[in-house]
Amino acid sequence: IPHYHQIPFYMNQTRILLRNCGLINPERIEEYIAREGYQGLAKALYKMSPQHVIEEVKSSNLRGRGGGGFPTGVKWDLTRKNPAEPKYVICNADEGDPGAFMDRSLIEGDPHALIEGMLIAGYAIGAQKGFIYCRAEYPLAIQRLKIAIDQAKEYGLLGEGILGSNFNFDIEIKEGAGAFVCGEETALIASIEGRRGEPRPRPPFPAEKGLWGKPTNINNVKSYAFVPQIILNGHEWFSSIGTEKSKGTAVFALTGKVKNTGLLEIPMGTTIGEIIFDVGEGVAKDRQFKAVQTGGPLGGCLPSDALNLPVDFDSLTASGALMGSGGMIVVDETTCMVELARFFLQFAVAESCGQCTPCRVGGNKMLEILMRITKGQGKMEDLDMLEEIAKFMKKASLCALGQGAPNPVLSTLRYFRDEYERHILDLRCPAGACTTLAPS
Ligand code: SF4
Repeated sequence: IPHYHQIPFYMNQTRILLRNCGLINPERIEEYIAREGYQGLAKALYKMSPQHVIEEVKSSNLRGRGGGGFPTGVKWDLTRKNPAEPKYVICNADEGDPGAFMDRSLIEGDPHALIEGMLIAGYAIGAQKGFIYCRAEYPLAIQRLKIAIDQAKEYGLLGEGILGSNFNFDIEIKEGAGAFVCGEETALIASIEGRRGEPRPRPPFPAEKGLWGKPTNINNVKSYAFVPQIILNGHEWFSSIGTEKSKGTAVFALTGKVKNTGLLEIPMGTTIGEIIFDVGEGVAKDRQFKAVQTGGPLGGCLPSDALNLPVDFDSLTASGALMGSGGMIVVDETTCMVELARFFLQFAVAESCGQCTPCRVGGNKMLEILMRITKGQGKMEDLDMLEEIAKFMKKASLCALGQGAPNPVLSTLRYFRDEYERHILDLRCPAGACTTLAPS
């Protein structure tokens, strides 16, 4: 049996966030501690001032891994400098993209990394209370978090006088009901407060007015989990990995028509082709690679030309896709790109909170057009109409859901327009996937 370092899926990875997943028992704090666990916290508490911690995170150039890519240290600084009290730390673990399971797996495999990252954030910004907002559909993640929190309390790592210092911090788990829109930070805050999970206009941002109107720092699971390693190893170590503007590693859930599916971690700047063909070992059943979808329902589809594209925040955004929080779906020649766009749009329309007109009406209108096209009832004018509505939605929707929902349609129109035209002009589905149409 080969050692796992000799297996292509693992040997082509650089595991920082996933370094403990599958190696330690996540229900035993001792195993986390044995692998440098809570040493980052101890260093922060005993050797660094809160401002020094923030400067270290800023210098590392860590960017938010929820998809936005905002500099984490800058966000912490804004919250710290807000004079209002109390301050809060929130972890957004409401991951809900189809095909994405990065945050869930990280919590299930290494829950203490998240807790330690939140503790360091709490110390840095001056908060004593943290919330982990995790969807209730992740029962194992929640169970492991509960065990981890209890064990951390027993060890004096949560509660009062942490590690003998004068720092107090506690963490509470809030279970979300599975609404995709609650991944938007203002909707998530409303949900924790017990209100309907609907986004509100920003500004004010949570650092100004967050949970119960108080300064609040919200980061994704992965962003927090990086922090203990950055504090322990220094910002130079972290910023030596990755590209000029996207530092560190990226975790992807590689799924779809690829031989090796699963969670992987690679340095930023690795190309899409290296991920699919080196780590993923190519397209399943030796079929033809056609496209890759990144960024979930708010991201986009890229064609085979994109295999040389480096994976980082800016390259993916410029190409019409998105980094997102880490979903990556491989598509072969048997998948219809019109149908794929319809699938993602239908998801976004179903998950829209419906409070603003561009998203509610625009999304439904685009979906109706796509349904007609996949049934052979489309017109060429529909393609212009799709682009026009999409532009309006991106410009006028209140939150990222409405602004991003048209992306799968826009990117497939950009790279696979001929497939739309074949459905409309020839009444054929080139992939042979739309059952009411003839294959090409
Ligand atoms: Fe709700 Fe959509 Fe408006 Fe966001 S864009 S607030 S999801 S209706």
